[in-house]
Amino acid sequence: MAHAIVIGSGIAGIASALRLRKKGYEVTVMEANPYPGGKLHAMEKKGYRFDLGPSLFTMPHLVTELFELFDVKPEPYFSYFQKETVCNYFWNDGTRFTVNSNMDTFVKDACKAFGTSQKSLRHYLKQNRRKYELTAPLFLEKSLHKVSSYISKDTIKAISQIGKLDINTSLDEVNKTYFEHPKLVQLFNRYATYNGSSPFKTPGIMSMIPHLEMHYGTYFPKGGMHTIAMSLYHLAISQDVRFSFDSKVDRINVAQGKVNGVESASGFHKADLVVSNMDIYPTYKNLLQGQKQPGRVLQQERSSSALIFYWGISRNFPELDLHNIFFSTSYSREFKAIFQERTLCEDPTVYINITSKEEPSDAPEGHENWFVMINAPGDYGQDWDSLKRKARHWIIQKLSARLQVNLESLITVEHVLDPVGIASSTSSYRGALYGAASNSKFAAFLRHPNFTSSIKNLLFCGGSVHPGGGIPLCLLSAKIVGDLAPKPLNHA
Ligand code: FAD
Repeated sequence: MAHAIVIGSGIAGIASALRLRKKGYEVTVMEANPYPGGKLHAMEKKGYRFDLGPSLFTMPHLVTELFELFDVKPEPYFSYFQKETVCNYFWNDGTRFTVNSNMDTFVKDACKAFGTSQKSLRHYLKQNRRKYELTAPLFLEKSLHKVSSYISKDTIKAISQIGKLDINTSLDEVNKTYFEHPKLVQLFNRYATYNGSSPFKTPGIMSMIPHLEMHYGTYFPKGGMHTIAMSLYHLAISQDVRFSFDSKVDRINVAQGKVNGVESASGFHKADLVVSNMDIYPTYKNLLQGQKQPGRVLQQERSSSALIFYWGISRNFPELDLHNIFFSTSYSREFKAIFQERTLCEDPTVYINITSKEEPSDAPEGHENWFVMINAPGDYGQDWDSLKRKARHWIIQKLSARLQVNLESLITVEHVLDPVGIASSTSSYRGALYGAASNSKFAAFLRHPNFTSSIKNLLFCGGSVHPGGGIPLCLLSAKIVGDLAPKPLNHA
């Protein structure tokens, strides 16, 4: 039987393994860590459970369709529910705004809070939808780099409408053309961070991201985010996908322009097809030394990283929900610090995720498990110990003032993850959360394809390659890998 090796068990690695299994391959996933999931990992400390990585879950159908592929019911592996409160927003001047999942309620609330007209808000949301519908079939669901992708009705339609996609203006500029209120502009600018970019640089086409959240909704997977990876892992095991943990791959072997296996500390492992779920940068630099390197792709600016404090908090905060944002006063100052000065801003936007709001067992009774994250630059050798100390102080000061508590005195448990830790636990170059940043209009085209024309039978999936980072796009990358993989010769 044709054998495929997947390097890495991130969400895209597991999903690719399932797609290849369905196609008829015998599949082995080799994972450097002793556990599956990559960035989708979790930990427990003194009665608190924390998801270490992603916290926002959209487009759950991309997970359930993997179960459907094998005619397996997702429950009891995986179940989820939609959130009515999408996100609570707080500003330093005391303003508070809640985004409701019902579009009409959101429009009514936003117009009242920010004095904008229903007409312009609805027009904005309609344009966002249009951008998504025009570009998703080409940019997200297919390989951008195959000629066949361009010979389709969808592509001709997208190209004919290119002027309406706001490719030549920044997201901030587009948002300012629709809204006068700076807080509403900031709220919509935040979506640039969903792929680790700056709203002042990322093109206006990215206003399709709020469409995904507002139209398709936000969800919570029962048991927490970690269950997304674990449920797919268990599905893969049930379909005879083999997992080899503590198995770091050191080299991808290529002979006569074709992959024939990989090497690890335990020796040579033969394969007919290899899929790398590892970040594209170390894949080339470490595993494909001596092979032609895609210079421009590897030099692309990386997405932002994050600094996260996982805090056990010894009381409940009824004013908070699952997702809460405490905005900075100056977004432009904050993004200049992150992308130009490569440092942290003294007034950062703080995101608090509290899964114990949905899963009370995630924290002891009367307590909450806070995942407190600020956007951070990638690791360029900064003094992270000093930055972490400062950021902790700024965050505690800010949240104490907004919530009118002495936050420091409520912290019972602490764990910290910084860009260096993200890089070392998942091999993400510079600790980037989403691979390359989308800080230019060419970013989508410079992202590495899911294949390489210089090496046969080598494919790529995950957040650092096409179509990009974040759980939904990672799952789409696996789908593209499944489509690109040659049919195994043994398969009828
Ligand atoms: P990764 O998760 O990067 O895993 C790669 C795997 O490959 C790792 O397990 C690693 O150990 C393994 N590996 C690497 N090198 C080797 C080797 N040589 N041999 C064997 N194995 C190897 N996304 C969202 O959708 N919503 C969010 O709210 C969100 N928030 C985030 C918050 C944080 C703090 C982080 C870190 C990320 C967040 N993301 C979010 C992004 C999301 O987590 C990633 O885009 C996605 O999980 C990446 O998955 P992946 O398949 O690319 O692989």
